[in-house]
Amino acid sequence: MSNRFSGKVALVTGSSNGIGRGTAILFAQEGAKVTITGRNTQRLEETKQEILKAGIPEDHVLAIATDLATEEGQDELINKTIKKFGRLDILVNNAGAAFNDEKGVIGVDQNVSVYDKIMQINLRSVVTLTQKSKKYLVEAKGEIVNVSSIAAGPQAQPTFLYYAMSKAALDQYTRSAAIDLIQHGVRVNSVSPGAVVTGFGEAMGMPSGMHEKYEHFMETHKECIPYGAIGKPIDIAHIIAFLADRKLSSYIIGQTIVADGGSSLVMGMQAHDMMDILKS
Ligand code: NDP
Repeated sequence: MSNRFSGKVALVTGSSNGIGRGTAILFAQEGAKVTITGRNTQRLEETKQEILKAGIPEDHVLAIATDLATEEGQDELINKTIKKFGRLDILVNNAGAAFNDEKGVIGVDQNVSVYDKIMQINLRSVVTLTQKSKKYLVEAKGEIVNVSSIAAGPQAQPTFLYYAMSKAALDQYTRSAAIDLIQHGVRVNSVSPGAVVTGFGEAMGMPSGMHEKYEHFMETHKECIPYGAIGKPIDIAHIIAFLADRKLSSYIIGQTIVADGGSSLVMGMQAHDMMDILKS
């Protein structure tokens, strides 16, 4: 286990589950003091227990159950982190979600309330939490890592168009914020995962069993995931840690690293072997 984040303080949003949980555990194992957060107190406690099980002292972990979609929740995260740890070096804007239209509508007729809810958590909370963290990140010459998605494009996403739009906007925010903040010594980058096994499907209201079915389909179809397996939270956590590690990634500014098992490089056309088509 390395100690590369020793002396650093990291705030990882959405760390009560999935990619955020994996990231918080990794940061803590590598020496960081971490603020973990989410609304679900039970899952948040599970993250904390996993960190403690890894032998990390309890005073290296601050768990805050709060709603990140509210500015009060965001103020609480920053204020309590500074009060307990005295600084902020790394902000991981990971929390995110997709919501279904109550009537099951997809495409352009999806209720605009779905758009509002998605933008609130996936985009607006990143914008305002970044503003609220800026002073401390500038003081620490820190790093921001945003968690985007390959859904951002350039392929169309008619089923989840508002979610895809939120991530496309987040990518432009990453680039523009990076150029603004690098003048103060703060780096901003992002990671764009493909399909990863997390609580995302459940949070969208998929019944148990349904997202496993989806995952199985994806990993057994080479036109979906050429790598042949769904990603794990730790796969993404390692990239987040790389982008937060100035010794390794100092010259990367405003970029997104795609980690998707090759998904975004294939089109359905390519999934069918030309020789097989010509033989039949
Ligand atoms: P999970 O559902 O497992 O985790 C989402 C996290 O976000 C949870 O900790 C959840 O906490 C938190 N969260 C959601 N809404 C709020 C809120 N209003 N206030 C506070 N916390 C909130 O999903 P993932 O780990 O998959 O998602 C993490 C990121 O990865 C997201 O930005 C997602 O868009 C992105 N991503 C995921 C992919 C995947 O295939 N899984 C693919 C590409 C990108 P709680 O429920 O406790 O509030």
